[in-house]
Amino acid sequence: MTERLYWLDPYLQQFTATVVSLTEHNGQPAVILDRTAFYPTGGGQPHDRGTLNGIPVVEVIERESDGAILHVLARPLEAREVEGRIDWERRFDHMQQHTGQHILSQAFLRITGAQTVSFHLGEEVVTIDLDQVGFPPTAVEAVEELANRVVLENREVWARFVEAEEAEGLSLRRPPKVEGRIRIVEVADFDRSACGGTHVRRTGEVGPIKIVKLERRGNETRVSFLCGWRALRDYRRKHRLLLESAGSLSVGEAMLPEAIRALQADLKEARKALMALQELYLDLVLPYLEQRVQPASFGEVLTYVWPQLPSGLLPRLARRLSEGRPRLVLLAAGGADGLLIVACGPGVPVDAREVLRRILVRLGLEGGGGRPDYAQAPVSRVDLQALQRALSEAIG
Ligand SMILES: [Zn+2]
Repeated sequence: MTERLYWLDPYLQQFTATVVSLTEHNGQPAVILDRTAFYPTGGGQPHDRGTLNGIPVVEVIERESDGAILHVLARPLEAREVEGRIDWERRFDHMQQHTGQHILSQAFLRITGAQTVSFHLGEEVVTIDLDQVGFPPTAVEAVEELANRVVLENREVWARFVEAEEAEGLSLRRPPKVEGRIRIVEVADFDRSACGGTHVRRTGEVGPIKIVKLERRGNETRVSFLCGWRALRDYRRKHRLLLESAGSLSVGEAMLPEAIRALQADLKEARKALMALQELYLDLVLPYLEQRVQPASFGEVLTYVWPQLPSGLLPRLARRLSEGRPRLVLLAAGGADGLLIVACGPGVPVDAREVLRRILVRLGLEGGGGRPDYAQAPVSRVDLQALQRALSEAIG
């Protein structure tokens, strides 16, 4: 079993050790040392990164069979004695999140009675799963208050090993998952649980604890939270977003929700006005288009091209013109979001998709689709004369 230096001193960033064996993990070189400051993935906390004699350590795993710690390396190591350095920024972040989790779990237990059933320290967010659902916002705020008060009281945090019998009498928040000697982590006069992770020595180092999300998952609740530097970075990012949004609407931050509601109301009114204008336009343009309808062997045919038309208007026109008549309707509009539509009224002996495909081939385009009686394709920035010609040829 590798001697775990991170248990004795979680602040140890550099160490020397002797190589016990060289091995492999999933085809990558790995090394086992007599002692290490590298934390292996476990207990919800991810592994450390860093270097051994300058070679990057990409993963650290605890081998279940014998408790040996495998350092997976970016390239092979050839030495008997090594100097290890751990990525302190990453490790200290893990210590902040992990200690913050102990405090937050105890705060939830005291205020709501909810037990933490699992913990996950991710790259972005940290989560705990609680064994209850339906937390009122006031309770969540009270939990956050208590957790941050414990942080600001700068209480001591320490770890020690006890025998299993002694652990039973310690009323641990989390009972141990291992047998034999048990590692207890204690936040002075607040929380006591069995844990093998790395923690800060005083709660003040955790920094702010912020709950960011609660999600119901069956009979449990997943709480996402951030501690320390992560919480500050999140605050900075959200503050920038808020300032940008308020700036773009030319209002103060506090007025932002009201400004958004006003914009939404304006948009709703504008949409209503646009719909009414479009209906007016349809009423005016339909008689004009009816005059351009040509006779055909199966009934009638109509082609028309607009330089530009608001999207949404063309399908409505095509439907109105082909409804209940043996009429083939070919409509198109140019511009950046141009559209080509083929609509077949009842009794027209062609497939709209086939007609559409033939026109697109002439234009050197592809895409689009639809049903036998209606098909459409985007024709952005197509030459209007070429489009007119292709439509005429399609019915010729
Ligand atoms: Zn812990």
